[in-house]
Amino acid sequence: MITLKSARELDLMREAGRITALVLASLEKVVVPGVSTLELDELAEEIIRKEGGRPAFKGYPAPEPDIPPFPGSICASINEQVVHGIPGLRRLQNGDIISIDTGVEFEGYFGDAAVTLAVGEVGEVQRNLIAVTKGALQAGINAARPGGRLSDISHAIESYVGLNHLSVVRQFVGHGIGSRMHEEPQVPNFGPSGKGPRLEPGMTLALEPMVNEGTYEVVRGDDGWTVVTADGRLSGHFEHSVAITEGEPVLLTVL
Ligand code: MG
Repeated sequence: MITLKSARELDLMREAGRITALVLASLEKVVVPGVSTLELDELAEEIIRKEGGRPAFKGYPAPEPDIPPFPGSICASINEQVVHGIPGLRRLQNGDIISIDTGVEFEGYFGDAAVTLAVGEVGEVQRNLIAVTKGALQAGINAARPGGRLSDISHAIESYVGLNHLSVVRQFVGHGIGSRMHEEPQVPNFGPSGKGPRLEPGMTLALEPMVNEGTYEVVRGDDGWTVVTADGRLSGHFEHSVAITEGEPVLLTVL
């Protein structure tokens, strides 16, 4: 069931979203060659707790029973890693790209957002992938308006990526968000427009295109969490939590 949020709930989501955005803005400043993803994770957790939030990813149960819960406050996914990279001792190198995804719970409500950043000087392929993935998220946000249907968002994202000759990951999708991090509905980043539930004011969605340089196929790595591109080529990821209103869509994960 899709729940519509009250003004009070939206206020709490805005605060969770503000902390989420603060983490990403703070990490952006320290993403440089030589920093480890564990160092980024520790800074993220420190900021979240200082602001009165709880790191929503930390301890998140794995989809399969024999895999431990997610250990980090961020997902740190480098180069061919698509999503759910586990923070660790690996140090970023000049020319890498890194997607940082984080989620915050504040007084029972959630924010979820991601950015993909260039580490030092990156090549044209990396720059283009980052720009197109960011543009795809914006295309999805622009379609998040009352009167439309859910898959209008999906179609807008896929069309934008297709026009730019890159591919959209199909195996992982966006989602409703609110008093749980993952609520109904699922929001695929592909498909025809005009399908699914009608978009209504009060719906809150985490839109998150994952865009690949090569094939859209992805595989799960040995740690049970990290998802990588099947062909080893690059992947980007941007995400905002968004509220549908009577007018313009409102970004919840902003400062
Ligand atoms: Mg998400």
